[in-house]
Amino acid sequence: MKDTYHREINYLRVSVTDRCNLRCIYCMPPEGVQWIPHEDILKLEEIETVVKAAALIGVKKVRLTGGEPLLRRGLDDLIRSIAGIPNIDDIALTTNALLLPFCVKMLKESGLDRVNISLDTLRADRYREITRTGNLNGVWRGIDAAFESELLPVKINTVVIRGFNDDEVVAMAGLTLEKPLHIRFIELMPIGPSNSWTTGRFVPAEEIMSIISTRLGQLIPAKKLVGNGPAQYYHIKDAPGTIGFITSMSEHFCRSCNRLRLTASGRLRPCLYDGHEVDLKTPLREGAGINEISNLIMKAVALKPDRHHMLDGWQDKRGMSQIGG
Ligand code: SAM
Ligand code: SF4
Repeated sequence: MKDTYHREINYLRVSVTDRCNLRCIYCMPPEGVQWIPHEDILKLEEIETVVKAAALIGVKKVRLTGGEPLLRRGLDDLIRSIAGIPNIDDIALTTNALLLPFCVKMLKESGLDRVNISLDTLRADRYREITRTGNLNGVWRGIDAAFESELLPVKINTVVIRGFNDDEVVAMAGLTLEKPLHIRFIELMPIGPSNSWTTGRFVPAEEIMSIISTRLGQLIPAKKLVGNGPAQYYHIKDAPGTIGFITSMSEHFCRSCNRLRLTASGRLRPCLYDGHEVDLKTPLREGAGINEISNLIMKAVALKPDRHHMLDGWQDKRGMSQIGG
C-alpha cells in the first residue's frame, strides 16, 4: 500500500496499553497520567482484527509497544494470533524489560521475533533517577533473558539527554565491543513532559557520533539489521555489536517513513507528530468487518503528511506512553 508521497506503508506499531511500571522523566510526569478507562482500551480480538485488516493491504511488520506492553494480560495470546496472520513476517516488542525474565519463554514460543529494550544509563543511581522507580539489575536480567531466548537481534534504545546521561555515550557504545548488542542513540523529542525542556537538553546525533569516534575509533558503516527502520548503523572495528543513530530531530527520515500507529484506545495515527487520527474502535464495536477496517486504514494512510513538524511544538495533551512509543 503506497501513500500520497509514494511511500510503501508496511509497518504497524500497536500500543497495547497506556499503563507503565516506570515514570521516565522525559515520558511521564511523576504522578503518572490519567489512565485510559479499561472499557476504552482495545480488546485483544479487536487488535487482531486491525492487524488482519492491515495485513490485507500490505502491512508485514508489527511492533507491540505502550506504555509498558509486558503489563498487558494475554500478550502471548495476541502474539500467537498475530503470528498466524498470513503476510505478517516480523513481530517485535519495545519494552523496559523489567518483566521480561518472567514471560520471555512464553512470548518466544508464541511467535515473538525480537525485542528493543530501553536503557538510558549504566549507573544504578541514575537509572532510578531517570525512571523514578526502576532497578537497573532488573533490566540486565531482561537483556540476558532476551539473549537466552534468542529474541535476536537485541537492540537497546538510549535517549540522550544533556546534563543527565550524555556523559555515558562512550560507555554505552563500548558495550558493543563486548556483546552482540545493538545500541541505538535516540534524539530527545519534544513530546509530553520533555516538551518544555527539550531545547537545552537536546543532543544532536552528530555530536554523539563525534564523541564516540574520538574515544573508541572510526565508526564504520554497518550492514542492515533485521527491521532496522530509520536508524543509521555503524560499528567499531572487530566489534560484535553495532551503534545506531535515530535522528528524528536533526535530520528527519520522513521520506522513508513506512509506519502507522495504533493507540491503545483504538485510534490509528498516520504520523507520531501530527494530530490526525482515524477512530477504529467505534466501527469495530459497531460490528465492522475486516474489509471495512481495511478501508479506514487506507483513509489513515491518505492522511500521512509528507514530513513531521516537531519544531513547531507538540500540540497534543497526551505524551508518548499514551500514544504509543
Ligand atoms: N515502555 C516501553 C519502553 O520504554 O521501551 C515502550 C514504550 S516507550 C514510550 C518507547 C520508547 O519511546 C522508549 O525507548 C522511550 O525511551 C522512547 N521515548 C519516550 N519519550 C521520548 C521522547 N520524548 N523522546 C525520545 N524518545 C522517547
Ligand atoms: Fe514507561 Fe517506556 Fe515511558 Fe519509561 S519510556 S515511562 S518505561 S512508557
